[in-house]
Amino acid sequence: MIVILKKDPDKVQLEGLTTWLKAKGIEIHESIGSSQTILGLVGDTTHLDIDLLSALDIVEAVRRVQEPYKNANRKFHPEDTVIKVGNTKIGGGNLTLIAGPCSVESEEQICQIAQSVKESGATILRGGVFKPRTSPYSFQGLRDEGIRLLSIAKKLTGLPIVTEIMDISQLSYFDDVDMIQVGARNMQNFELLKALGTVDKPILLKRGLSSTYEELLMSAEYIMAGGNDKVILCERGIRTFETYTRNTLDIASIPVLKQLSHLPIIIDPSHSAGRCALVDPLSCAAVAAGADGLIIEVHNDPAHALCDGPQSIRPDAFDTLAKKLRTIHEVTKAVDVK
Ligand code: PEP
Ligand code: MN
Repeated sequence: MIVILKKDPDKVQLEGLTTWLKAKGIEIHESIGSSQTILGLVGDTTHLDIDLLSALDIVEAVRRVQEPYKNANRKFHPEDTVIKVGNTKIGGGNLTLIAGPCSVESEEQICQIAQSVKESGATILRGGVFKPRTSPYSFQGLRDEGIRLLSIAKKLTGLPIVTEIMDISQLSYFDDVDMIQVGARNMQNFELLKALGTVDKPILLKRGLSSTYEELLMSAEYIMAGGNDKVILCERGIRTFETYTRNTLDIASIPVLKQLSHLPIIIDPSHSAGRCALVDPLSCAAVAAGADGLIIEVHNDPAHALCDGPQSIRPDAFDTLAKKLRTIHEVTKAVDVK
């Protein structure tokens, strides 16, 4: 971090600042120029409040030269992180296929879909039970009863389950849940993130609708700083000026997040596009770009789905897509090695 001081800084204030920084274990390299003095701060500056420093009378400006996140930063953890969910692994060259309906609707529905996506090669079952809907009049999910139905499907198929938490008060229902999803709308619910930092379960952290890469990684940092380092990032499309698709899938997020962080990255083509016809090409692009996996909405009767029917693909389409994705993954891996 670099602190640029105002011309002729007050000596007492400067001494106060340097003593305070040294007490925090920061080394200070002072460069005195004819018109300006610059302090180069060396050490762990992640805990320094940049706004507080900038507000000091003697400070002209503060610049970060290192990212404000440490646990999620590849610089401090060069190896890819591999996260176990049930008996499957996310990251480390595996292609994880998470599939299932947007929402759990009935025992028959979730069990049928679970069985078919398993046969097609899905390794984790998804299904929302606490639904963050734009309208309070839309289907809100089956809540704890939905988790009970997910557990039945898990027992039937052996697939681990992932479902969204909207509030920490719901955590007591999550005992049998293998991976907890934090939805796009809650990516910056810092109290929820802090609470999940103390939970011993993998967290699928979805990127907020208008969040930058750094904001997503800072949210991962919240969970990791609390002691839970099992975080999986998820790009699910962002808001842009385009309205034809529900969101815009940011393919660049895959190489960028892989460069900045060691955490695995999953792509959600369903919420990115909002249209079932786009799920196939977007999934293929994501695997070719190096994603660690996909989370895809699959419904056995999309026309009557209680939530997100237009973006849900049928089990037979998922079967064809899964085969295609495995081929692309193999080719991508072979090309990367050469
Ligand atoms: C979902 O996965 O069903 C969901 C609501 O996702 P998002 O938070 O990305 O909108
Ligand atoms: Mn959905």
